[in-house]
Amino acid sequence: MENCLFCKIVAGEIPSKKVYEDENVYAFHDINPNAPVHVLVIPKTHIASVQEVGEENLSAVAAVLKAIPVIARQLGLAENGYRVITNCGEDSGQTVKHLHFHILGGKKLPVALA
Ligand code: 5GP
Ligand code: ZN
Repeated sequence: MENCLFCKIVAGEIPSKKVYEDENVYAFHDINPNAPVHVLVIPKTHIASVQEVGEENLSAVAAVLKAIPVIARQLGLAENGYRVITNCGEDSGQTVKHLHFHILGGKKLPVALA
């Protein structure tokens, strides 16, 4: 997908601080962290948001969900827990139109919608 920031990160055209990679999934530190640990987990293939999830890309989405607990353990979050967030569309405040799951943790997170 041309002009997609996260596709460019996957391609290595824009640098990122990688924390995990496999055949289908890439994870990296958020550039503007909202918690002591703030990592973004994305499919390598371009999917715009949860709203675009369907039969044709379910395996890519499943690969992302499968990687999240592995990454959380690697980051030291498995024991105390963490929050997983994905924004979808305008009202959610989604700024990058490539499906991504935020992993937030490293402290007791405030109870909030976002
Ligand atoms: P959204 O608001 O779409 O759910 O989340 C997009 C996230 O991407 C934000 O938390 C933002 O800080 C992060 N982000 C935006 N541009 C970059 C970048 O170039 N590199 C990294 N590592 N994160 C980015
Ligand atoms: Zn993309």
